Amino acid sequence: MADAVTEVLGCQQLLVGGKLVDAREGAVFETVNPATEEVLGVAADATAADMDDGIAAARAAFDTEAWSSDPALRARCIRQLRDALQSHAEELRALTVAEVGAPVMLTSGAHLEGPIADLGWAADLAESYEWTTDLGIGDTMGIASRRRIVREAAGVVGAITPWNFPHQINFAKLGPALAAGCAVVLKAAPDTPWCASTVGRIIAEETDIPPGIVNVITSSDHQLGAQLATDPRVDMVSFTGSTATGRSVMAAAALTLKRVFLELGGKSAFLVLDDADVAAACGFAAFSGIIHAGQGCAITTRILLPRRRFDEGVELMAATMASIGVGDPTDPATVCGPLISARQRDRVEGYLADAIDQGGSFACGGSRADRDQGFFIEPTLVVGVDNSATIAQEEVFGPVLVAIPHDGDDDAVRLANDSPYGLSGAVYGGDLDRAVGVAGRIRTGTVGVNGGLWYAADVPFGGYKQSGLGREMGVQGFEEYLETKAIAVPA
Ligand code: NAD
Repeated sequence: MADAVTEVLGCQQLLVGGKLVDAREGAVFETVNPATEEVLGVAADATAADMDDGIAAARAAFDTEAWSSDPALRARCIRQLRDALQSHAEELRALTVAEVGAPVMLTSGAHLEGPIADLGWAADLAESYEWTTDLGIGDTMGIASRRRIVREAAGVVGAITPWNFPHQINFAKLGPALAAGCAVVLKAAPDTPWCASTVGRIIAEETDIPPGIVNVITSSDHQLGAQLATDPRVDMVSFTGSTATGRSVMAAAALTLKRVFLELGGKSAFLVLDDADVAAACGFAAFSGIIHAGQGCAITTRILLPRRRFDEGVELMAATMASIGVGDPTDPATVCGPLISARQRDRVEGYLADAIDQGGSFACGGSRADRDQGFFIEPTLVVGVDNSATIAQEEVFGPVLVAIPHDGDDDAVRLANDSPYGLSGAVYGGDLDRAVGVAGRIRTGTVGVNGGLWYAADVPFGGYKQSGLGREMGVQGFEEYLETKAIAVPA
């Protein structure tokens, strides 16, 4: 085990109305280390009655506390939370590696420390945001009125999150929702309950966030997410997860016409243009494609290579991916750890079998890694299929890339856009202006050019098409949690 990793601690309780409580029926469920298959411990297994308590607590807190009208209090509490989380960084690091299977290397970035620091950005915004805009005097039907536009908190937010980057996604919802003045019920993913419940414990014990403003619910029952989407006391659902679940969240939320914010799946393309440094491009595509075992929604998994350099590119990528291999997530050199669960490993293996059935072959990988324990799949590069193959159209969420040849910029853009998704993408080219021009033609919410990284607190992230609705992070992400009110008085 790496030096930085200490004992793994979890929290077995829910946070409801400011108190750490057991599930009403006392039920618990196991949380498992995906690298070792060992049971780490148990988390509270909330039922609908516990979720009802959480929603009631959030509603009461939002309706009665000064929270939504006091940005200075909110900024102070969010900074307090950031500082408390930072003081628990090693405990959270050990937990993230053990429960998520996240390579420890990544916990100094997007898996843990980056999102904690980004809470400060949300706190600053609570203080600097222009909450009121004076539109001046207008004349409507002969009546002169002074008009003012006020932005205010959307209300009670149901935040539903997945397991793949639990801290990043939990904090990317909590930070702006709290900065906006909302109360939150956070429903964690069943595969990573401790990542959420530990934050609940820290909120309860080490911050002045008023009781009920944050409630944390862990459960093995996915339906508690649906409960948040249908309950009329919830004003807004902020969901990150698969496109299929996003659809059902949106349909459920339609019953009460609640605001819906969706961050969903992706099948993002990496376009290597014909003037690119193919070695540099393929090295970057191979590395970034299998980070965290490919369990990232914005990972570029379709590699579009110029036809005349296709074999060269595939060879380079296969060699890089094979040399990276899989590793113990506690090892600081590991890039590609385990998949989250046996279920996810089986799902990825199903996609690999489909690729072969549809005429594909593996330039590297293609099977389970040769390890005694853990849900590991070898980094795999699929070739011999076109963009209509299942492996090129559906999100695999494993260390599996597919290489497809293209016949120039127009063809590469056509292939990149031939997807139901529109989350992210990358372009690599020799001429930067040309590469940026190609990036502008890709119908996705983010694009990196020649290794440029868009991920940051101030950059809105989200999807076109079936990759979602709305944006997370940035000012746009904060404004998802605001309502708009116009007030007019006689001038
Ligand atoms: P999932 O959709 O199965 O589950 C996500 C969350 O929704 C979990 O908390 C789950 O319990 C809950 N849920 C399940 N059924 C529900 C229902 N009917 N109503 C309400 N909530 C329900 O996704 P997952 O397998 O946990 O995560 C992987 C998926 O998340 C991938 O598709 C990935 O692309 C996506 N993802 C997207 C982003 C993004 O920002 N676009 C980020 C990370 C992950």
